[in-house]
Amino acid sequence: MRALVERLSEIVGPAGLITAPQEVAPYATDWRKRYLGKAVAVVKPASTAEVAGVVLVCADSRTAIVPQGGNTGLCGAATPDASGTQIILNLSRMNRIREVDARNNTMIVEAGCVLANLHRAAEEVGRLFPLSLAAEGSCEIGGNLSTNAGGTAVLRYGNARDLVLGLEVVLPSGEVWEGLRGLRKDNTGYDLKQLFIGAEGTLGVITAAVLKLFPLPKSRATAVVALQSPEKALALLERALEACGERLTGFELFSDFCLALVLKHFGDAAAPFPRRFPHYVLMELSDTQSGGGVRALAENVLEAALGEKNILDAAVAQSETQARDFWKLREFISEAQAHEGSNIKHDVSIPISRIADFISATDQELARAHAGVRLVTFGHVGDGNLHYNVSAPEGVAPDVFVKNTAAINRLVHDSVARFGGSISAEHGLGQLKRAEIQRYKSALELELMRKLKRALDPHGIMNPGKVL
Ligand SMILES: Cc1cc2nc3c(=O)[nH]c(=O)nc-3n(C[C@H](O)[C@H](O)[C@H](O)COP(=O)(O)OP(=O)(O)OC[C@H]3O[C@@H](n4cnc5c(N)ncnc54)[C@H](O)[C@@H]3O)c2cc1C
Repeated sequence: MRALVERLSEIVGPAGLITAPQEVAPYATDWRKRYLGKAVAVVKPASTAEVAGVVLVCADSRTAIVPQGGNTGLCGAATPDASGTQIILNLSRMNRIREVDARNNTMIVEAGCVLANLHRAAEEVGRLFPLSLAAEGSCEIGGNLSTNAGGTAVLRYGNARDLVLGLEVVLPSGEVWEGLRGLRKDNTGYDLKQLFIGAEGTLGVITAAVLKLFPLPKSRATAVVALQSPEKALALLERALEACGERLTGFELFSDFCLALVLKHFGDAAAPFPRRFPHYVLMELSDTQSGGGVRALAENVLEAALGEKNILDAAVAQSETQARDFWKLREFISEAQAHEGSNIKHDVSIPISRIADFISATDQELARAHAGVRLVTFGHVGDGNLHYNVSAPEGVAPDVFVKNTAAINRLVHDSVARFGGSISAEHGLGQLKRAEIQRYKSALELELMRKLKRALDPHGIMNPGKVL
């Protein structure tokens, strides 16, 4: 091990190497503190050449590499195992924006750029980089691409996968694939970049990317809508899409129990209406035109829905501050839930048309099998993505309740499969769902994935124990 550390140190220098166990520990623990790993060292290269050098040394010594960005992933995919033989390859020092080309609507960025910094860089040239999620102050673009992150703007702009034109990747052999092409059309064979996006670091290390930029919206309208049921939310979504087209950029559903948790745990959060309703939708429209156009459009859609009794009430934000306060109600749910105690989480997707039926059928099944459970149901319903989380019944200690995890996962995931859905919508598989996916993907699909893995990483050094 000493020889390995010495060779790594020659490549990255003292500024790029952490070996003291107490300093390694935070990198070897995942965001939710579910997985506590160990590592020989945290290696922080500052350039693509240094990444290639590190990977070569690891390939030579058959040392397993765990790539890591901001370490905000929710599936333990950036956490080493407990053997203490793996290295963490943290990309945070590779944080340069290499080029912004406003006319081509692209920017070339290194993997360790924090997502929020990319928003600012795009805004400086009057452009939008639309990937947006609550962890954006910490997560890094290499991690976003490796998990194919979703977030709150997928409805209009797509997942991370849809926002990339080219990649630079260090392969498990230590070779560098320079695929940083800023082209919107390029039909010259297999689309290799898509292999690495969503691969959770199991096929190579992403070191840089060409990202797509969009015109910066100049006006926005944000509304909270009260509804009787998820079915009514789907009716509103259909109507809003018909009326607003691409101007509909956000459509998030949350139940009243989610709102109750946010109000309980965040003293500065305010209820959007004087009375409570069973469900809410946070709806956002945006437009590259300034003026009140989107606001009037939002009001028209909501008035029509009120008239048809599809919705029960609605409030359109009167200021930027109020719009941000509305978003907080949605964005604070995960944290409020964590304050309430352990719960059993599911990040699933369902065909949009079947979401309401999924919720109703699965709620009933759970109530029968696990009486009293409290459901924290929210998500990017405009993309068919639900965070369908199950909290302990009132009076049951969360730590006792989580002993039901396997049984509850089985019930929920089987229901997802019956409704034609996926057991991981946007968070990935990591170590959390690695075994579970074996039940839901066909043997042929799994074997194709294994063949790809063997072809690119014959010695199995890239993030072993994750995904497959
Ligand atoms: C509060 C909160 C809210 C969140 N909301 C969302 C959300 O709305 N939508 C969503 O999709 N996710 C969400 N997430 C999950 C998480 O933020 C995303 O998965 C994010 O994309 C991970 O980025 P990261 O830099 O933290 O990656 P990490 O956690 O460091 O790594 C994630 C995976 O990517 C791999 N990896 C990292 N960098 C590289 C690289 N350069 N090359 C190859 N592999 C690499 C790692 O090995 C690991 O497999 C949320 C997380 C938190 C804590």
